Amino acid sequence: MNSSGAYFNKQFSHIYVEKKAMDHDETKKILARLPHSEVILIDHYKDIFNRNKQRYNEQKRSRALILAVNGGELVYKGAPVCQSFGNPGFYYTATAMNCPFDCDYCFLKGMYGTANIVCFVNFEDYAAAVAKLDNPYICASYDTDIIGLNSITGQADKWIDFAGSHPDILIELRTKFSPARLTALPNLIYAFTLSPDEICRRFERGTPPLKARLAAVKNAVESGCVVRLCFDPMIYVSGWEGYYGELVGQVADTVGFEGIRDVSVGTFRISSQYLKTMRKQEPDSEVCWYPFDTVNGYAVYPEDIDNKMQSFMCGRLSGYIGSDKIWKWN
Ligand code: SF4
Repeated sequence: MNSSGAYFNKQFSHIYVEKKAMDHDETKKILARLPHSEVILIDHYKDIFNRNKQRYNEQKRSRALILAVNGGELVYKGAPVCQSFGNPGFYYTATAMNCPFDCDYCFLKGMYGTANIVCFVNFEDYAAAVAKLDNPYICASYDTDIIGLNSITGQADKWIDFAGSHPDILIELRTKFSPARLTALPNLIYAFTLSPDEICRRFERGTPPLKARLAAVKNAVESGCVVRLCFDPMIYVSGWEGYYGELVGQVADTVGFEGIRDVSVGTFRISSQYLKTMRKQEPDSEVCWYPFDTVNGYAVYPEDIDNKMQSFMCGRLSGYIGSDKIWKWN
């Protein structure tokens, strides 16, 4: 008898709601989308989210959703390992924390140490904080896959509406999912992370396969949306040149690069501190246990491998798209 998963509750079978979030309209909408879940009132999201000694690998089979009001910091300056694409006012914001997918290499495992997902329902406060910034470039899907969660939270829709009413604010929504809603706005970037089939299968559990992601990219381009392709993080595996070379060819054949705003290229890198936590959560992961070098507090591939991978990818891409549209992380 196969018992894998059979005895676990469904995803979001339990929803923890902060008392102060209970009467919020967004809370009511989200609870209405999950009518069979058990609702448990809590004082503060950290009581659940930040508990010690959580076991990611058990939790991920039956993630809890936590609805909360964020009274703390709402917008952050972009981190040095993330790409600004030449935008001086680079910020990110997190209306949700954690992701419904399960990529081996995801830094969120190192950052949070839990598989549960927090959704902050006070979007209006985030919108007000972002609107105060001077010509910002805002990444709204770094600490989650906001489009992957949209059917539950509706937060991608909120950022799309926000972009529509704030033409001076550039918003990026990064995803491995297929957006249900595509809205063509000059200040709204749909950024699709693409990985070779081999990498998707081995290390990106729960995400749509490459074929579905390419179909989503094509759909977005044909809908007139601003589209970015992210070949980041590239994962160093035996045969990587073949896999990543084929990926560029597949994009060229199915979508083409004419309608693409820009592309990013980057190899896997992560804060050494996060890597330590991730390795506890992923004791068998080939990606996490690679013998990385440590540079300025970050775990990175050795310089020769890093250079080789990024040069290879940029070289392949430059056959299709101008080098002024190719952004490397370092
Ligand atoms: S899709 Fe992105 S955010 Fe989600 S698990 Fe994978 S790497 Fe992490």
